[in-house]
This record gives sequence, structure tokens and C-alpha cells, in this order.
Amino acid sequence: MRVQKVPAAARLGACPLCGGAAAEPFLVRARVPVAQNQPAGSAEAARAVTRGRLEMVACPGCGFVFNRAFDASLLRYGPGYDNTQALSPRFAAHLDALARHLVERRGVRGARIVEIGCGRGDFLRRLVTWPGADNTGLGLDPAYDGPDAALEGRLRFARRYFGEDADDARADVIVCRHVIEHLPDPLGFLGALRAMLAANPRARVFIETPCVAWTLRRRVLWDFFYEHCSLFTAASLARAFAQAGFALRAVRHVFAGQYLWLEATPTGEAARVENAGEVVALAAVCGAAERAAREGWPARLAALRARGPVAAWGAGAKGVTFAALADPDATSGLVLADINPAKQGHFVPGTGHPILPPETLAARGVRRVLLMNPAYRAEVAARLADGGEARLVRWNVAA
Ligand SMILES: [Zn+2]
Repeated sequence: MRVQKVPAAARLGACPLCGGAAAEPFLVRARVPVAQNQPAGSAEAARAVTRGRLEMVACPGCGFVFNRAFDASLLRYGPGYDNTQALSPRFAAHLDALARHLVERRGVRGARIVEIGCGRGDFLRRLVTWPGADNTGLGLDPAYDGPDAALEGRLRFARRYFGEDADDARADVIVCRHVIEHLPDPLGFLGALRAMLAANPRARVFIETPCVAWTLRRRVLWDFFYEHCSLFTAASLARAFAQAGFALRAVRHVFAGQYLWLEATPTGEAARVENAGEVVALAAVCGAAERAAREGWPARLAALRARGPVAAWGAGAKGVTFAALADPDATSGLVLADINPAKQGHFVPGTGHPILPPETLAARGVRRVLLMNPAYRAEVAARLADGGEARLVRWNVAA
């Protein structure tokens, strides 16, 4: 899903968005696995993965949140990189709702769509196959792994970056979901995108990325991890687009408030966005929560463990980060459950906790299943079969 070549090292500390002098980090983790989504074949290999430093800073000037210690050269989004969430019915429903919005509300029909960082193409395929939409799609992703074409050529894929083919600039619609938070120089990316669309003022750009205000407000500590080096509020995302020369059409929250969905065009009248000046204060509270978690979570986990085996749901970024905070030495017997067959039987990068199919939890006598993201509560309970709901424990940051 990498869409940007590694840029020159940023001036240490300066805000990559507004250039303002940076504040001190509100959250520091010394040695985190750089790749959350690459489970290892053994516990030993899991503990030997490449690590990097997290120093999350909230810019007092613009509210942008970034990892000032990020080193893009440590990350490789190659084969084996698997961050698909489309296996989850909850997430699939989200993709359906977005596709419906684009086709039925925004009139994306008969359009040439280019998706930057398309992953497996789950979203692009929806836009192309939506009833009556008559779209064609080109998915770009250097880490793409699949057939080059599908749907009789209406859906195509290429393992490359946006703009490496002059034709890219003629797209009617550019979609870029869950990419910009991976880029240490988001402004450079948006500026290059805007420059490429200069001769195509009717193009429309749609971006989705996590909302850091949502994360900070709820102190969702496991939403901070190495791959996400650039995190936005509605205001800072709008600012980035405006700085890059785009006209903002809309920015709103989707997925129960967790993500931002932004719509822009290369030219035209811009919509106004309220300023989110509260980010720095929220970040300070979140940083305190992180320090309290390091102190308190291992004991909380041990107390649960004393009543029987415990599993955490999901070996994605959230579960991996949770495991590192609550059980850094993997001594509690904690296991992670994941519905992705490619992760099952593997081990959590960093800590080496085992990843198991959810169906095997009952046989192992697992009494408590920890839920990181309440959005998935219903489907997790359904997966756990009899008594599943009763065994679910929502892991609150505080408490
Ligand atoms: Zn800034």
C-alpha cells in the first residue's frame, strides 16, 4: 500500500504540515515492531522483528499528530503484508455504504476510477460492480498481489505508484483510503497529486483516514502504532488539502466516527471546516493514559487470567499493540484470536503471543475474550457461539 517514495529525512521536530516548531511528544514507545500486520512463523522470529521508535507529537499550530521519530526506510510493504479488514462483516458493510454514497449520492457513474493504495481491490470492485454504475477501475498498489484484470477488463490492477503512467491524470475519480496516515510527508503526496490533476479540474478526490481526535478523545492507545506516522483531525486534513491547492468539498466522520471521509476537487470554492484546537490538550490526557496503562494493565490482565485463560480479539494493529502494553514479556498466557486464516497459527510481531482461530478458544478453556473495538461486538459475539456475549470483556483504557 505504499504510494510514496521515501522522502528526505524531515527536519527533526518541525511539523511536516504547518512547519511550526514542534512540541514534546505526548506518547513515546522505545521499541515497537514496525510492521503490525506481519505475523511471524515462530515466537522467536516474532520477537526478532524490525523495531522502530514512536514519538507522537501533537502540533500546537495546526493540530496535526505525527511520529517525529518515524523512519520510512524501516518499513517494507511487500508480499506478506496483510491488513485486509474486508473479512469482517462490519467492515464489509462500511465499504458497501461508502460505495453506495459515491454512486448514488455523488453520482460516480460511467467514471474512470483510479484507486491509490488499493490493497486487494475490495472497495474498487464494489464501485465497478455496483448495479447500474458502469464504472471502470484501475487499482494501484506496489504490494498488490492478485490477477492483473477482472470483470472482463473493467477492473485492472498495477503494481506501481500513482502518476507513473501519464494516463493516471485523466481519471474522473481518485480514491485513496487508509494510505495518507502511512506517509511521513503527506503534504508532498497531496501536492504531487494536485500537480498531476492540474489539467483535469473536474476530477474528484475521495480520501479516508483515521480521525485522531476520535482516538485521543477515547484514549484508544492501541490506535498509535508505527505504520501510522501521520494522523489527522477534520481540521488538519482540510488544512493539508487546502495547502496542497485543492478545493475542499466536504469532510465528515464515517464508521461510527472513527474515520474521516474527505471530498475535494483540484479547483473551485472550498468548504469551511471548524478548527480543532483542542488536540494538544487531548493528546496530553492520552499520554497520561498511556503511562497509566503501562503501570496498570499487566495487573488487570493478571487478575482476569487468575479466573481462567484469556484471549484478545483480533491480531491487527490494535491487538498487537494491546499485547505489547498489557503483557510485554508474553508471560500471562494471553492468546490472540483472529478470523484471518493467514494469521492463524502464527505469532504476534514483537511479543510472540500465539494467534489462534476463534473456533479453538472454547476447547482451550478461554473464559474471557477482550474486545478492543466495540464496533465489532455483535459479530465477535456471534463468532464465539454459545455464551459468547457473556464472555466478552470490553477493555477500557481507564478503569
Ligand atoms: Zn503543524
